[in-house]
Amino acid sequence: MTTAQTLDVQPTPLALLLLGREADPRSERGVECPGDLPAASDPDLVARARAAKEKLGDRVFVLGHHYQRDEVIEFADVTGDSFKLARDAAARPDAEFIVFCGVHFMAESADILTGDNQQVILPDLAAGCSMADMATAEQVAECWDVLTEAGVAEATVPVSYMNSSADIKAFTGKHGGTICTSSNAKRALEWAFAQGDRPASPGSPASPGSTGSTDTKVLFLPDQHLGRNTAVRELGMTLEDCVLYNPHKPNGGLTVEELRAAKMILWRGHCSVHGRFSLESVRDVRERIPGVNVLVHPECKHEVVAAADYVGSTEHIIKTLEAAPAGSKWAIGTELNLVRRLANRFADEGKEITFLDKTVCFCSTMNRIDLPHLVWTLESLANGTVINRIEVDRETESFAKLALERMLSLP
Ligand code: SF4
Repeated sequence: MTTAQTLDVQPTPLALLLLGREADPRSERGVECPGDLPAASDPDLVARARAAKEKLGDRVFVLGHHYQRDEVIEFADVTGDSFKLARDAAARPDAEFIVFCGVHFMAESADILTGDNQQVILPDLAAGCSMADMATAEQVAECWDVLTEAGVAEATVPVSYMNSSADIKAFTGKHGGTICTSSNAKRALEWAFAQGDRPASPGSPASPGSTGSTDTKVLFLPDQHLGRNTAVRELGMTLEDCVLYNPHKPNGGLTVEELRAAKMILWRGHCSVHGRFSLESVRDVRERIPGVNVLVHPECKHEVVAAADYVGSTEHIIKTLEAAPAGSKWAIGTELNLVRRLANRFADEGKEITFLDKTVCFCSTMNRIDLPHLVWTLESLANGTVINRIEVDRETESFAKLALERMLSLP
């Protein structure tokens, strides 16, 4: 490892997939989407989806993530964020098929948390997450080697955002870390910093009652913004306490001294949807709508979060709007399908809800799950064919589950 920062940038290993018909085994997304989809113009799609779902009855449980299209949400038995949905699936052990209308890492988490008798299905295997794709198992293993060489791995606790592949969750479990969501990131970081010196054997928890060591560090994967925003806004750290590990640069682009001095080692990943909001968007909406409240998701950049009035997870955003008084005005910085749905839902109550940015900003991979894919999935199941099953191998599952269970037992 060199002590000098280098500017050597290596190309990203991930290629773009075309129309969900190609495969990229290195990606957190699955493989190609076989089978013929019904035409999007078919006027009977709604009736077909209803008939197939009715035929399946209690054998199927359809989960709809908040960012899904309305046409898909209409058929969801339950809606929520990724973690709530995985728990909802686990609470339905009698459902043979869990159809996850969301993205790949969410279906993996549902598979990890549900029983062996249940099959989790993703209606379009190309529905991945660009953020989850930004941290591959190889890159993270290489990062751990860099931390080991720098002599800081023993004092480092990995904390991985739910929005990561099963491989990254397993890495986290193996190295004594926890998973977090945007709702409990503060508690997860407090827990991690209280772990103190790392246990000798990987996977074993730190001694109970440990008050932690001042040298403890967190490797936060894969969303740099959630990690930075939580550390600075909620734990009182400074921006200088955080360093950015770039997997495309040798040694992450960091010197040994930088790694040793850091409290938070942030992985250089981000959400391509929330990353689009800028300080300019906040200034502009305040000018356009006097008295507007700006409410953003913590996956937004730090400068956007710092300029907003309120910050919180999708569940927090929904609850805040539910409790908002009539006549209040809101600009929301999160995915557009959800903001539109909330704007329609609260219009009658006199709450004015607008999208934070002037340009549209859907999550394109979430949007891959449309009515034709849902009809194809439900009809195939009703006809006895299981398609697009997401299955995590046993070893990965056991370590990933360990990390998820640590999150579940967070105080
Ligand atoms: S909104 Fe962002 S984090 Fe969520 S699935 Fe889409 S790309 Fe991933």
